[in-house]
Amino acid sequence: MASFALAGKCALITGGNGGIGLGMALGLARAGAAVAIAGRNADKNAAALSQLSAYGKPISILADVSEETSCRAMVGEAAERLGGLDILVNNAGINIRKAPQDYALDEWHKVLDANLTSAFVACQAAYPQFLGRKGGKIINVGSMMSLFGASFVAPYGASKGGLVQLTRALATAWAKDNVQVNAVLPGWIDTDLTRRARSDVAGLHERVLARTPAGRWGTADDLAGVAVFLASSASDFVTGTAIPVDGGYSAQG
Ligand code: NDP
Repeated sequence: MASFALAGKCALITGGNGGIGLGMALGLARAGAAVAIAGRNADKNAAALSQLSAYGKPISILADVSEETSCRAMVGEAAERLGGLDILVNNAGINIRKAPQDYALDEWHKVLDANLTSAFVACQAAYPQFLGRKGGKIINVGSMMSLFGASFVAPYGASKGGLVQLTRALATAWAKDNVQVNAVLPGWIDTDLTRRARSDVAGLHERVLARTPAGRWGTADDLAGVAVFLASSASDFVTGTAIPVDGGYSAQG
């Protein structure tokens, strides 16, 4: 019987120490999952862990997902310390905003490595864990930039568009293994990342309010419900999708 319950399930959330990742981690933990959060910043990890510890015994992992060795070790450590792995949320991400002609190649690689290659590596590392558990759930965090273009996000947009195609490729390859792979496409959500964007890009705040039918910025908690759905047996026949969570942003012409 399909259910939203996650008791007995083990989840790893990259970038789970703040913003959208923490919102999703809290949602999964409230639904009963044992959660591991991974990030580079020990202080942020500790602060997030204290919030999550209201729901079970969360663990924190220091990792840089853009480094292959660190990313693979992160998945191994999560599986070992949680006692298995059922759910992987590839949420860690960065952005560097400038005109396309002004990027240095290492800036391009930095964004692609953190946002896209990291997800591929983490999925590869998680796959044997899922096989051992006879199934698994992967949630990749895309963006409105998976769907639309913008003048100041060439590498970010390429990484987020790529994540949707990676989602479809893995979904088709691993459906036979009972592994469901889906993407979530957040609209404009109030986090550290967008607080920086709001100060970098003049008029952004007002444009987001005007362009979003819901008439507000999203909150990290707005992503909790979709994470629980895509992590639970309620979504066992849902795979290869990209679900906007955007207050109607992508529905508006
Ligand atoms: P934040 O900047 O608040 O969070 C980013 C998270 O990623 C942090 O936890 C950070 O942890 C982690 N992270 C970044 N790089 C690495 C790395 N190399 N290794 C490990 N962890 C890393 O941003 P958001 O919560 O807004 O963003 C989360 C995701 O949602 C991103 O993928 C972003 O692109 C996406 N998104 C956000 C939107 C928004 O409006 N906010 C809209 C659409 C998509 P640490 O600092 O410890 O490394």
